[in-house]
Amino acid sequence: MSKDYYEILGVDKNASKAEIEKQYKKLVLKYHPDVNKSPDAEKQMAEINAAKDILLDDQKRKQYDTFGNVEGGGFEDGFSGGFGGFSGGGFDFESVFGEMFGFRSSNTKQPQRGEDEQYRVIISLEDAVLGAKKKISYNSTISCVDCKGYGYKDFNNYCKDCRGEGYRKIQRGFTIIQTVCNTCQGSGKANTQKCDKCYGSGSKNISREVEYHIPRWINNRSTIKVPSMGKAGLRGGPAGDLIILIEIQENSKFTRDGNKLFTKINVPLKTILLGGQIEIFDIAKKSYQVKIPKCCKTDATIAINNEFYIILNTVMPHPNDINSKHSELLNEIL
Ligand SMILES: [Zn+2]
Ligand SMILES: [Zn+2]
Repeated sequence: MSKDYYEILGVDKNASKAEIEKQYKKLVLKYHPDVNKSPDAEKQMAEINAAKDILLDDQKRKQYDTFGNVEGGGFEDGFSGGFGGFSGGGFDFESVFGEMFGFRSSNTKQPQRGEDEQYRVIISLEDAVLGAKKKISYNSTISCVDCKGYGYKDFNNYCKDCRGEGYRKIQRGFTIIQTVCNTCQGSGKANTQKCDKCYGSGSKNISREVEYHIPRWINNRSTIKVPSMGKAGLRGGPAGDLIILIEIQENSKFTRDGNKLFTKINVPLKTILLGGQIEIFDIAKKSYQVKIPKCCKTDATIAINNEFYIILNTVMPHPNDINSKHSELLNEIL
């Protein structure tokens, strides 16, 4: 069970980003190993950083709130692995101190990966067992072709004063302070005229139809990841992924246990006593002729193959169908 990130930061479940940032800064000043020399400080700081990274990232926070962790709460594929390349929090120890001196840091110039699109899809047990090809339609964004997602007309021309960084670093004694570049106001660009095609947003809205494949015997609450089909990245960053959470509907005829399917089959008492042949169907509606041995157990489980099993359910004859002759014979036998 993962730790409660809200507790670690000491914030409310509904805390805004600003509240979380504020609280994080307080904790950094208290626990940062450069300041706090207690042996636990480093570990505490690592926990605080991890909590901050999750709760300041809208997507990760949503996952955490929904599933209890950011690995996806029992998802096979998980959400990890796709978030590399940038830090969700957007500020660090340097900039915390920078702000204490009255400066504000900016990371706006960095390429940013697009958000993942997440959808919950309910599928039939049949599709879960047999596998299927499905389509999903949704609205998303795509990077603007004209400005490559930068939002500026002249996106290749960098501000010379900050070398396109958007901020400058000033060293004062042992402290490095980051401050927004005055020349480009943090954009990192020489020309800040907005792109006409996307009005400076760097992306366009599109509707997508994506085909995805459900593998055979997929587990309930698995996720399927379709790479790069999420929201557009910013400033040349890669697109996010499409993540589909699979939920499997119950089936009235078949029950599943791992990679095995079971179904109850009604068999007349006569067949149970004397043996016989019955026809049954699997979940793909394929028919099988099954031999019932003489004096079979009334609730026997018979394996049709290593994935499909039937459980016999004996159906008694109707009392009206038993005459005095039957009763006499039964009396003799039993
Ligand atoms: Zn554009
Ligand atoms: Zn600049």
